[in-house]
Amino acid sequence: MLDQADIAAKTAELIAAARRCFDLRLQTNAGGNLSIRLASGDAILIKPSGIGFAECTPENLQIVHLDGRLEPSPYKPSKDLDFHLDLYRIRPDIRAIVHCHSPWATGYASAGREIPCLTVQTIEKIGRMPLIPLSPNGGPQTEIEISPYFRDPNIRAAVLANHGTIGVGKTMMEAQYLAEIIEETAHIAFVRDTLMAAHGQAQANMPTFGTAREARQAMKA
Ligand SMILES: [Zn+2]
Repeated sequence: MLDQADIAAKTAELIAAARRCFDLRLQTNAGGNLSIRLASGDAILIKPSGIGFAECTPENLQIVHLDGRLEPSPYKPSKDLDFHLDLYRIRPDIRAIVHCHSPWATGYASAGREIPCLTVQTIEKIGRMPLIPLSPNGGPQTEIEISPYFRDPNIRAAVLANHGTIGVGKTMMEAQYLAEIIEETAHIAFVRDTLMAAHGQAQANMPTFGTAREARQAMKA
């Protein structure tokens, strides 16, 4: 049974996150995708194919059950639907997913480089964001390539080579913040790497702890 009040609330959250991604230039055109799990746990709300983040409305979002059944919709399901569904199936803690083609992070990933967690915030909030290669036939990553990384319950963010980013969270806002942190970190890493190269510098400091509290506790131990 679909809970209409829950659907209305989740619709508003998804549209707000999509608008924010567009305004921050994390996602232009009709690429990328974002989704949110409904309170029942066994269905999601997701943007359909061909609709931009700035054009999401209560009328065009789709409801899809975790077994793949689509509630009636005139729109085509997203190309990313299968990997979203599989992440919700394998990780009950995941309640929202934001997938963007944000340029700094995707540039890093297209060079075949994992974005380093080089700021204290990334150590605290992410820990590690694996780089997931293209599928073996050179096509986009599917659940076959993506889900194995997310079977590790500590993985909250990943970057898809030649494709984009994935942030997952217990809420839409948490997944949204991760999409922003991934992009911000790639930008910072690029500036760091460019300056290091310009100055012939081979090594740079990396933080060990994400918070002062963790660092203090480690000192005491
Ligand atoms: Zn994509």
